[in-house]
Amino acid sequence: MNEKRVFNFAAGPSAIPEEVLAEAGAEIMNYRGSGMSVMEMSHRSKAFLSIFEETKDTLRRLMKVPEDFEILFLQGGATLQFAMAPMNFITRTGKADYAITGSFAGKAADEAKKYGDIAIAASSKEKNHTYIPAQSELKIREDASYFYYCANNTIYGTEWQYTPEAPAGVPLVADMSSDILTRYVDWSKYALVFAGAQKNMAPAGVTVVFVNKAYIGSALPYTPVMLDYAAMVKGDSMHNTPPCWSIYMMGLIMKWVEKMGGIEAMDARKRQRSKLLYDVIDASSLYKGCAEKGSRSFMNVTFVTGDPELDKRFIAGAKEVGIENVNGHRSVGGMRASIYNAMSIEGAQALADYMVEFEKRG
Ligand code: PMP
Repeated sequence: MNEKRVFNFAAGPSAIPEEVLAEAGAEIMNYRGSGMSVMEMSHRSKAFLSIFEETKDTLRRLMKVPEDFEILFLQGGATLQFAMAPMNFITRTGKADYAITGSFAGKAADEAKKYGDIAIAASSKEKNHTYIPAQSELKIREDASYFYYCANNTIYGTEWQYTPEAPAGVPLVADMSSDILTRYVDWSKYALVFAGAQKNMAPAGVTVVFVNKAYIGSALPYTPVMLDYAAMVKGDSMHNTPPCWSIYMMGLIMKWVEKMGGIEAMDARKRQRSKLLYDVIDASSLYKGCAEKGSRSFMNVTFVTGDPELDKRFIAGAKEVGIENVNGHRSVGGMRASIYNAMSIEGAQALADYMVEFEKRG
């Protein structure tokens, strides 16, 4: 057994702060004198309801979420939101526009095509999704029900560095799975923001949805109740049994984020971590960054050596020094270091040092 914890650069599920794991461990048998584990509690119990409310309140406070947005804790991953968004919002005009900046945005558009007239507002496919289109390149119809984009493209390592502008009256819908809780959101522009929580917020099993209440209540008639935001809001995420354990863990992680200094601290940390790695790439004659400089992600640093065999040696060598999961997504290869909120500066520094050492070693 490996007694030592590694630096885990996995893209999701991902590293969780060690003190949160220790806290959950200490409470696992008997949650604060209740005589049972959170895993064993009724979701209607007083103890769990207080965990639930506190988690929601902390998240609302951290992200400055206004009261006209409801925060939901759902299941089905970010992927289910690819269907829920159109099923709930397409009825406004029957049309919606999508920016295709990676495979998850593409999947979301494919899902939406089942429910309405979907147009591609911009696509970075011709350059293998190595960049984010500029505002001037976005062709958004004035009668679109919404404009959809994926704020951070986990596989390609690109991130929108600006909040897109849509024509007046067209709200934004965004997949923020991999950059949620790393910056503030201008809520006035959005109908919906969602995130699979297993990167920056919690273990897998819960999907966080921020839905603007002004846009709910007109889902397609055949929408299953579990996919209707209005029903989820009405039941306060408890139309059925919610993912209690993941919500509890999210609560601990939210408190950790708050203790660390909130979004400002997460924003500063992401810049520090990613700079350590991009600086090595930019100074190197071995590593090539995959994303164009102006589109680089703070959360997923993607790079290659240009030689797949050397990439393999890099990944195997990293493992030997306690640096795990730096392989690129199976669809693109190369390397990817996912550096979400729980990744320490020390972890990013260890990877940067290894990269320099590997290049020197040749
Ligand atoms: N969107 C993005 C940006 C992602 O990175 C992922 C998963 N890596 C998904 C959607 C899919 O999320 P889930 O597995 O929670 O359905």
